[in-house]
Amino acid sequence: MDPAKAAYWETALGNACRELANAGDGERHATLRGVAFGIGRLVGGGLGSAEEARAAILQAIEGWPQHAKTAKTLDDALRAGQERPRVLDDSERPHARAAGGPKTRPPAEEVRELWDRSIRLTDCPADCQRDPCPAKRLLGRGMHPKDVGHLDVARCIAPPPWPSWWRPSWSAYSLIAPAFEPNGQLASIHGRAAADVGDDPKTRWPAGHTAGGLLFADVAGRAVLKGTPMLLLHGVLIVEGMTDTIAASIWAARRVCRRGERVAVLGITSGATAALASVDFRGRPVYVATDPDGAGERYAEEIAKSLPAGVRLKRVRMMQCR
Ligand SMILES: [Zn+2]
Repeated sequence: MDPAKAAYWETALGNACRELANAGDGERHATLRGVAFGIGRLVGGGLGSAEEARAAILQAIEGWPQHAKTAKTLDDALRAGQERPRVLDDSERPHARAAGGPKTRPPAEEVRELWDRSIRLTDCPADCQRDPCPAKRLLGRGMHPKDVGHLDVARCIAPPPWPSWWRPSWSAYSLIAPAFEPNGQLASIHGRAAADVGDDPKTRWPAGHTAGGLLFADVAGRAVLKGTPMLLLHGVLIVEGMTDTIAASIWAARRVCRRGERVAVLGITSGATAALASVDFRGRPVYVATDPDGAGERYAEEIAKSLPAGVRLKRVRMMQCR
């Protein structure tokens, strides 16, 4: 099997087992059903074997009570998943680089053109083709479109035509963020679905290219990556994913008003912790805010291992790094 697919399967199965191991008393049955169904779909798509999945999951739920009943739930859900196979396309392989897969990015000028043409959320729906603007509606969680627009960490995607690597059928993925190489160069675009996409993935990377090793960053974070950090930079906050990058950027901007000093924000994309190794933090403290659960804990450890030697690291909840 293609190494990128093998890596995807391994990651998916590992995540599934962790989710099961972390499931609390009242949520076990539903978690098992959902997780096994998802894995079953990947098996149906030819990604891995049902026997391997079954053995791994049984081991993860070893300590659960009523074993006969849970085994039946597992088998039913795995089978139901296989009947609705899910075949991966190129845009779903964030781990391609780590697994030795293709290493190309989409053409830089096309990425730049799409981002430049996309619409700041301060300007939507005035310029938006869609009313109400779906990208704006997606934000929530204390993220105001006006703030996001001013900070320019995410935009509403420009109307088509799009470059060949952004499929014509992807109009639902209207909230987009720029993704950067560890040296601060704009490298790719990440899209989040703001409309119902059914069984399709909730996010997209350019089709046919790898997104391995890329980072999200606010303006101060981009300056850190480029090696030209702003004056009065207090430290760097590292979060996970596009949504947390947006939320952290808003938080960091509000903090400046209170304290005068800036905190730069970097967001890790899937499988990109290694990219942190080449960032020069110039002796500034680094704060890591991942989810307060087992998965977030492991992620924070992975980040800590990836940071250059000598970096002062502190694990925080988003509001504590002051
Ligand atoms: Zn819009």
